[in-house]
Amino acid sequence: MAATPMMQQYEDAKAVCGDALLLFRMGDFYELFYDDAKTVARVLGLTLTSRDKGENPIPMAGFPHHQLDSYLGKLITAGFRAAVCEQVEDPKLAKGLVKREVTRVVTPGTLTDDALLDPHESNYLAAVVGPVTGRVAGAESAKPQREAFGRVAGAESAKPQRQSSTDIGVAWAELSTGRFFAAVFPANRLADQLARIQPSECLVSEGAEPLPDQLHRSMALTQRPAWAFSHDGAVSALSKHFGTASLEGFGFGNGDEAAIRAAGAVLDYLVETQKSSLDHLDRLIPYRVGGMLEIDEATRRSLEITRTIRDGRREGSLLAVLDRTITAMGARMLADWLANPLTDIKAIDGRLDAVEELIGDGALRRDLREHLRGVYDVERLLARVTTGRASPRDLNFIGRTLSNLPKVKAKLTARKSRYLCQLESDLDLCPDVRSKLEAALIDDCPLVARDGGFIRDGFSSELDALRELATGGKQWIARYQAEEAQHSGITSLKVGFNQVFGYYIEITNTHREKVPQHYIRKQTLKNAERYITPELKEYEEKVLSADEKAKALEGELFLELRDLVQASARRLQSTAAVLAQLDVLVSLAELARERGYCRPQPVDEPILKILDGRHPVLDILEPQGTFVPNDCEADADEGLMLLITGPNMAGKSTYIRQVALITLMAQMGSFVPAREATIGVADRIFARVGASDELSRGQSTFMVEMTETARILNTATARSLVILDEIGRGTSTYDGVSLAWAIIEHIHDTIGCRTLFATHYHELTDLQSTLSGIKNLNVAVKEWEDNVVFLHKIVAGAADKCYGIHVARLAGVPREVNERAKQILAQLESEHLDPEGRPKIARRTKNRRGGDIQLTLFGFADHPLLEKIRAADVNTLTPLDALQLVNQWHAELSNEP
Ligand code: ADP
Ligand code: MG
Repeated sequence: MAATPMMQQYEDAKAVCGDALLLFRMGDFYELFYDDAKTVARVLGLTLTSRDKGENPIPMAGFPHHQLDSYLGKLITAGFRAAVCEQVEDPKLAKGLVKREVTRVVTPGTLTDDALLDPHESNYLAAVVGPVTGRVAGAESAKPQREAFGRVAGAESAKPQRQSSTDIGVAWAELSTGRFFAAVFPANRLADQLARIQPSECLVSEGAEPLPDQLHRSMALTQRPAWAFSHDGAVSALSKHFGTASLEGFGFGNGDEAAIRAAGAVLDYLVETQKSSLDHLDRLIPYRVGGMLEIDEATRRSLEITRTIRDGRREGSLLAVLDRTITAMGARMLADWLANPLTDIKAIDGRLDAVEELIGDGALRRDLREHLRGVYDVERLLARVTTGRASPRDLNFIGRTLSNLPKVKAKLTARKSRYLCQLESDLDLCPDVRSKLEAALIDDCPLVARDGGFIRDGFSSELDALRELATGGKQWIARYQAEEAQHSGITSLKVGFNQVFGYYIEITNTHREKVPQHYIRKQTLKNAERYITPELKEYEEKVLSADEKAKALEGELFLELRDLVQASARRLQSTAAVLAQLDVLVSLAELARERGYCRPQPVDEPILKILDGRHPVLDILEPQGTFVPNDCEADADEGLMLLITGPNMAGKSTYIRQVALITLMAQMGSFVPAREATIGVADRIFARVGASDELSRGQSTFMVEMTETARILNTATARSLVILDEIGRGTSTYDGVSLAWAIIEHIHDTIGCRTLFATHYHELTDLQSTLSGIKNLNVAVKEWEDNVVFLHKIVAGAADKCYGIHVARLAGVPREVNERAKQILAQLESEHLDPEGRPKIARRTKNRRGGDIQLTLFGFADHPLLEKIRAADVNTLTPLDALQLVNQWHAELSNEP
């Protein structure tokens, strides 16, 4: 079938937008065709119709143009990319087919529209690139090796690399604010870093190995051709974009090759999808790990720092509960602080000083919050300015924000804390930009510049004159009408206007004879005639063109203002950063005040002393006053490992998480929910949950549990904080107890870091008798009139063992079953101690230096015969009995393998 010219246009547009759905503007509708039509019919519930009803109908579906934002939002949320093909000339003026062009490609990671973005969340586009080459100078092996990220090492570049073969380049940019970072991470840290950045879209090379499983759920993966990740291409594209000769000025050097390649892929994708200026991405920042508390992916997930496990949403997370920010920029900055807690005590104290000062001054806090209410999202507004998408209203919002700043600055002067002083001096009021915007723009600016009407009277005398002409018409017409009425003697003469004839004079038929000679008849109505005069036409000309000219002039003035703002973008950006930080500090102070938090004391030794600590999320979400506070003390004398036992639902998980969350909050510079807290600054926090406690992940997870645990054992240091919740639960009891036991021993002997281990395996409490650094804790439970009451209070000592069975009885398990369970329990308990009263389980066959400590499991010390020999009362034994006994033992021994 020969394509119609329009369908040819469609095919051309489709060819440039890759696998994106093409929204093709036709009149007042956006239409989709072929498979795209079928897809949106399914995803958006649109009606599937067809075009060209003849032999080869083309599937088609569409929606009215004003619904574009809402449908784009739905498509992006559903994980699609969408290209918008607009009519780029006025259909009325078009000769033949209207020209159409793809004006933008909308993808999850490249959103700038307000309607599609969550103001409280950053929206990063990331790119990930595998190792360039495994070949180090003088490489051992010439054989290409398959590397972690799916490239054949050594096949691409002959240049010797300093870079380790398992390093991965990652770059991430936020189009809506212009932030752009790149870094190289070890391959095994990739998942952690992506979990920290939380990009909504990630670019990967075609044919690359898949990214870690757990990341897929939270971001869209977009495949790009391998050339988009090439090093030379990246260097030249980035240098050209930033106008620099090399990238060293940004702090990149040897070994950053993969980072540069990833950054190149990001830039390339942005250029391809945006078709607009990207000037606001004005620098590429090398991200360096270090100085930050490291939190791996599993820990972020399990502590629900910025998202909940259950539905991956912000609500219910620590972040959401802590957030008292007023501005969107502050909300995003808070998320950033929480995702990147500090390790430097000075820096932490710097933040804490500022928060403390704000807590102490309620009026200051109230005033600052009041002023922050007038602060708009300058970061995102600026991005719209540079991408050429700003409206008069956007500029007006920037101006309004600036007019608030002198009051903010005044509030910040002469503060005690250095951080607040620093913010004061960094706050650039941008008075030039402000006065221009204030003078130029009316208070309530429109969303489009095209129709004018947003420049203040008095700003431009030229514009005023044109407006005068365009709107002053009413007086002129009134005068003209009065004059003509007088000259002609027709009192009912009227001057009117319509779209077709423009201005006219209308005279009713009763006065037809009096019509002056020079009137030219234009239209005949039922009982009136309409006329024009040369004078009226000349006036009309002036008015209409004045209106056009005024709009055009406003357009020019708008562009001037936009350029002015763009030229000051750097200063405005740093002002925005000051406001965001201030908002975060005030938010932390507000929360601390409201919830009665205390100032934590960060210290250099690996200790913990938290008095009356509360779980920051439950403390707020549960009814006021119902949360039971608990202490936590760990240090070298008292023991660095706390083993918490207690029945289900007692509060073990809550307790150990609360310790981790309080540590994390302290290191981000926040006050903490406790009466007193001394926090040894941690270099890493690890939190792991035993497999069966994490059902929501819906996969066979014992393997995951052990893999994650292995990572702790391999990477934790003496300064780390480790939270283990029911580790070992994902397998049989014996397996589980043995693993848990061995894991704790290893952490105790080899790592020696602060560790909280919650378990319902009571056997583990015996560890205390064999390892010096372990302290048993349990959750107090009270029996009361046949009821078990969970007191949620953590107390010293191992838990009383019977509660599981007790609870079972409460639950209605028959009495006989319960009694029998108690017997079995007693049996098990009597058997797990050795004759000296030590836990049999604790016995080691080798000490760490490899020497024998005791015999093997089937060795002499364990042998059941020993018990029998001991039990024999030699003094009362008759010779015959003795003989029989020996005979019996002999028989038992000969039955053994
Ligand atoms: P466990 O891990 O021992 O099974 P959880 O820590 O999951 O118990 O706690 C179970 C429930 O008990 C929680 O959901 C919470 O509602 C409540 N809880 C736990 N700790 C406290 C506390 N300190 N104060 C009040 N309620 C608590
Ligand atoms: Mg639990």
